[in-house]
Amino acid sequence: MLKDYYLEALEETQKSLQKGKQIWLTNASFLKEGNNSITLAFPSKMYLTNFNNFCKSELQSKIDSLTGSHIDIETIIGEADFSSVEEDDKTEVEEEEIQRKNSYLNPIYTFENFIPCENTNFAYNAAKAIAMNPGINYNPCLIYGGVGLGKTHLLQSVGNYIEKENPKKKVIYVTAETFTNDFINSLQQKNASSFRIKYRKADVLLIDDIHFLQEKISTQEELFHTFNDLYEANKQIIFTCDRPISELKGFTDRLKSRFTRGLNLNLTAPDYETRVAILKKKCEAQNVRIFDSVISYMAENIKTNVRDLEGSLTTLIAYSKLIKTNITLEIAQEQLKNLISAPMASEQDISISTIVKEVASYYNVEISEIKGKKRTAIIKDARNMAIYLTRKITQYSTTEIGNYFDRDHSTITHSIDKVDQERKQNSDIAAALDSLENTIKSKSK
Ligand code: ADP
Ligand code: MG
Repeated sequence: MLKDYYLEALEETQKSLQKGKQIWLTNASFLKEGNNSITLAFPSKMYLTNFNNFCKSELQSKIDSLTGSHIDIETIIGEADFSSVEEDDKTEVEEEEIQRKNSYLNPIYTFENFIPCENTNFAYNAAKAIAMNPGINYNPCLIYGGVGLGKTHLLQSVGNYIEKENPKKKVIYVTAETFTNDFINSLQQKNASSFRIKYRKADVLLIDDIHFLQEKISTQEELFHTFNDLYEANKQIIFTCDRPISELKGFTDRLKSRFTRGLNLNLTAPDYETRVAILKKKCEAQNVRIFDSVISYMAENIKTNVRDLEGSLTTLIAYSKLIKTNITLEIAQEQLKNLISAPMASEQDISISTIVKEVASYYNVEISEIKGKKRTAIIKDARNMAIYLTRKITQYSTTEIGNYFDRDHSTITHSIDKVDQERKQNSDIAAALDSLENTIKSKSK
């Protein structure tokens, strides 16, 4: 009977296991045996994982030597009476694992696979310094920059680093959208206090994409209080935003001032050398080889952001796997021709409506308002910005632009001059314009 061998092996293994690890074995339940196999049942995945990690190899060698042959130890979850098992008795390792699950971090975002360039080196090193000493210096921290430039990657790298090096610290990562939904749900279910407890027990709170909170005044209010509580308790807070804070509309001033209080880090598009390095690293990670000529071609032509670079690479890799061929420069040119076109051609392809749409979403106003007659400050700003960008990135004449926006020629030139002036005087506006221009160009491909 294999069961007898199993019981003997079990007893011996128990003795050799470290204290605290035995629980993973005592809660295994012998279910059945086959010719050369036994099946053990576990109360939950947690028990099974820990059994596999800490006990299985020991048990395996004991039972093999007792029987003189190899016995397969098969495992399943459930199917036995575990009513006496105490779920609360978790080891430290298990606690860590549970905490990791609760933080919603994606483990692929690490400092190791983030490649900084000259312009982003400071942001990269500062984020690392925060990860090493959360809540000490640089608190709060704001990371801002256009789409696809690595904000989420850097933010989550901080979280992943802390979870690994400092597992007792509770890291919470949320998008501003999830934060908002959580808040709304808590109001609907009339348990605002559980919402508060959840966020205020964070040692490190990472909130991604705060521009989402534009015009959401009650959520902003709640965030303001969360911020104050955590800040006073020296807990680390990091935000990301797709634009400079001064460009956020529909935000309370007091919250805006909290965002910018500590360290502000700006991410900008990577330079050519960094684009090459990023592509090479991504190839390495996926274990694919791509000719240098192809890498250079991509890095020369895809300048908008890292997400676009990655997207192009994915397209090429998928193609090469499908066709089972190496990627030559010709293949790359053919496959990416919709993404990459000569700059002039692509700029002419950008329609005014794309520009207006992006500007409207940036300012959180309706497209019809930009083209309409309303003269509130925010709509006027959005309109001027759309006119300016149209002139800058398309080949339309000011008269043609006037026709589109239903304004006379002098109004159009006035708008363009005004934004031009602002751009020179205010680096935040310059950054916002660059980021919008990048977004528009990348969406128009
Ligand atoms: P954002 O949040 O700013 O829109 P993400 O952080 O989502 O951008 O980045 C988009 C993609 O580009 C991700 O897959 C990310 O890993 C990658 N990425 C961005 N910047 C870098 C970088 N400097 N080095 C390596 N990968 C990067
Ligand atoms: Mg992001």
